Amino acid sequence: TMDYGPAPESDKDARAWLASHEASFGHFIAGRFTQPKADLDDIDPASGKLLAHLSQGSAADVDAAVQAAQAALPGWQALGGHGRARHLYALARTVQRHARLLAVLETLDNGKPLRESRDVDVPLVARHFYHYAGWAQLQESEFPDHVPVGVVGQIVPWNFPLLMLAWKIAPALALGNTVVLKPAENTSLTALLFAELAQQAGLPAGVLNIVTGDGATGAAVVAHPGIQKIAFTGSTEVGRLIREQTAGSGKSLTLELGGKSPFIVFEDADIDAAIEGVVDAIWFNQGQVCCAGSRLLVQEGIHDLFIARLKTRMQKLKVGAPLDKCSDMGALISPVQLERVRSLVEQGVREGAQCHQVVLDTPPGGCFYPPTLLTGVHPAATVASEEIFGPVLVAMSFRTPDEAVQLANNSRYGLAASIWSETIGLALGVAPQLKAGVVWINSTNQFDAAVGFGGVRESGYGREGGREGCYEYLKPRRQQAGSLRQPSARRAIRADA
Ligand code: NAD
Repeated sequence: TMDYGPAPESDKDARAWLASHEASFGHFIAGRFTQPKADLDDIDPASGKLLAHLSQGSAADVDAAVQAAQAALPGWQALGGHGRARHLYALARTVQRHARLLAVLETLDNGKPLRESRDVDVPLVARHFYHYAGWAQLQESEFPDHVPVGVVGQIVPWNFPLLMLAWKIAPALALGNTVVLKPAENTSLTALLFAELAQQAGLPAGVLNIVTGDGATGAAVVAHPGIQKIAFTGSTEVGRLIREQTAGSGKSLTLELGGKSPFIVFEDADIDAAIEGVVDAIWFNQGQVCCAGSRLLVQEGIHDLFIARLKTRMQKLKVGAPLDKCSDMGALISPVQLERVRSLVEQGVREGAQCHQVVLDTPPGGCFYPPTLLTGVHPAATVASEEIFGPVLVAMSFRTPDEAVQLANNSRYGLAASIWSETIGLALGVAPQLKAGVVWINSTNQFDAAVGFGGVRESGYGREGGREGCYEYLKPRRQQAGSLRQPSARRAIRADA
């Protein structure tokens, strides 16, 4: 018999959940959904069809959420680290118990392949809550000189909707803060489902509030005087605006912004492994990854061979319906983003690059864009410096390690970098010369809840994950008491980092 591969995942349960809310959502404030207002359409990017209506959060909605978060703060802090850890463990387990529903809903809302939402996003979400449950338990012994920041405002993008929610709320809640979170306007559904599941799992009302809406709602969160800290993940442009708006306000701020990360392949690399690395670096999540390895730098001696092998491998990628378990790539997030990617590739060709693409055979109505490789790219070309945020890889060559470092650092960003070589001394020599928050050797896109992640330069500042991530949601006790004690050694080291 013929093997047709696994059947597409059913979206029956996700649709039933949407129907249970009549596919129309208010905000989640003080443990309840507000009356839906149907201001915004939430579209399935793989079909162009309407999934749900969302409400546009006003300044009054944001204010109600901040008040709920303020009211919940004393009780949440009185629980102590051990008490909060029990809630964090409950959140982790509830994510695992509803993993399939969350993954399917994420795929419907975002267009990413189910294989990714199921095997990457949702497991990492659970892992993040488990990890920070551990830090909550250790809070009193590990951070005796620190206290929680208070009410935090968090704004997340659409590329990893639930995972970015977890990166934001797990450390904040674990360490005794309460939260007002604004999901991205095109991907708010898993945040709303999560809020409902958290409530069912016993999270006290007001500890987590979700206000939906577009950038204007985000700006209202940033402006609210009752918020002590803003944590933002998104574009460098909006990050810059938020930085200006919070300057002098006394609010603390962390920014996780864009990138144009180099993927450096030396002549002695394991070529098969490096090719698979490229696939993961730029075609994972349709390339809509802030730390995507979007600039391929290959050493001259293997350049032609490597590009030839990569073209062959690229042709094997299957772009298709996201719920089809055979799809390697799904749809881009929106027609706007599709158009942006298309026009940047056209500009790359106008500026002299050769364009290699996979021919698409995709369902009608969706925002599909083929895996794309641009070769012969001049380092000064637009596509070599602009973040494309799509499945587009630009390739260049270099001669010496010094030249590789120079090319790699020729960017206004500094989020991540990946080095491929079988000579570990070479890789370890190059790594510290790269201006990047994270450097991977013979691997790429490695995330772990225990490891701090974040950028330098225009990729932002602050770290998420691990012990570093804890400090982002704590402040020194001395600030509160107003005493003149010296900062602790640990705090001082971090300030230098
Ligand atoms: P975006 O900056 O437009 O939107 C991100 C979030 O900010 C959304 O929730 C949006 O509604 C909100 N927002 C928009 N304008 C705002 C304003 N004036 N004030 C407050 N909030 C506002 O970015 P995007 O297009 O949704 O996401 C793509 C970008 O995000 C890419 O540049 C990518 O590199 C970056 N990103 C970075 C990371 C990281 O960890 N560094 C992760 C994912 C995405």
